[in-house]
Amino acid sequence: MRENFVKKIVISLLKQHRETFSKEVRNSAAMRKRIENNDPSIEKEIFENAVASIYTAGFSSEKAEKYSKSLIQHFGLDLLKIIRRGEDGLSKEIGMGNRKNKKVIELCKYIVNLRESNPFCSWVRKLHRGERVFNLGPKSDEDLLKGLGYFQHFPVDTLTARFFERVGLLKYAAAKYSVVINPLASDAVKQMREVMMKVYSEAGQITFQIDESEYLMRDNLGLADILVWLHCNENRKYQKDSVCRDKPLCQECQLESFCEYRAHLQRETVSRIANHYPKPSGDITRESLFSKACCVLNESAVLSRE
Ligand code: SF4
Repeated sequence: MRENFVKKIVISLLKQHRETFSKEVRNSAAMRKRIENNDPSIEKEIFENAVASIYTAGFSSEKAEKYSKSLIQHFGLDLLKIIRRGEDGLSKEIGMGNRKNKKVIELCKYIVNLRESNPFCSWVRKLHRGERVFNLGPKSDEDLLKGLGYFQHFPVDTLTARFFERVGLLKYAAAKYSVVINPLASDAVKQMREVMMKVYSEAGQITFQIDESEYLMRDNLGLADILVWLHCNENRKYQKDSVCRDKPLCQECQLESFCEYRAHLQRETVSRIANHYPKPSGDITRESLFSKACCVLNESAVLSRE
């Protein structure tokens, strides 16, 4: 069993994304403060974030943000107008499918019926405390709360799950905790979340210092998720950070030396290159063939960086 494998990953991710990570945490923490203070000026941002969280399910974060921005530009916080449009009207005017817009309308109805001065703030605080209030769905709730600075929360999405598999964390967790996730099982996402919690908790002693605030990872597992998400997202807004993309940029990755997927890619490339050479004969040994393949591989890595 590899010692401190998780800690090594978190520290490498932090090294790679420190600047963007700090900015994200700072922004989200500031939002939480405004929510806790019942600041009316945060209501619109909460609504926009909530709509983006609804739209994100099954779509890229970039697309979800684009459509939620468009909805806010069209209607602002005029929730009654949104309700009157109905899901068909919203789909025609904003885009996105009826099912997602139906959820947006349900949220609007819930908020209107709260009849409170800052209903979105109050709703978010209750959602965080786990009270029985209107919810967006498990993934969207966690996504929203994490983004609003409630770092105890984190969602499971396909990109972070893919990272777990690529880097070797799924295999690591399967061996350590005797869990094998069946992707076809109805509770696969729940299982994955439990695995992620266990894995992140192993680096629980790490503290993140952002400005005056100190965050202990054990109490803020969502911070690990922010780091992982920055690393593997496909959103152009975070282009500088997203290296573990669909086509991963392994040469730019701080995890390159211990990532399983990278090792697998290298083995594949070496064997592909070696296959282009004739079978060893005479003074050509397997070792010299392998070393030749490695040289070609290194040269191509240098070229792709340039
Ligand atoms: S080495 Fe490559 S596959 Fe592994 S985490 Fe980094 S970018 Fe992803």
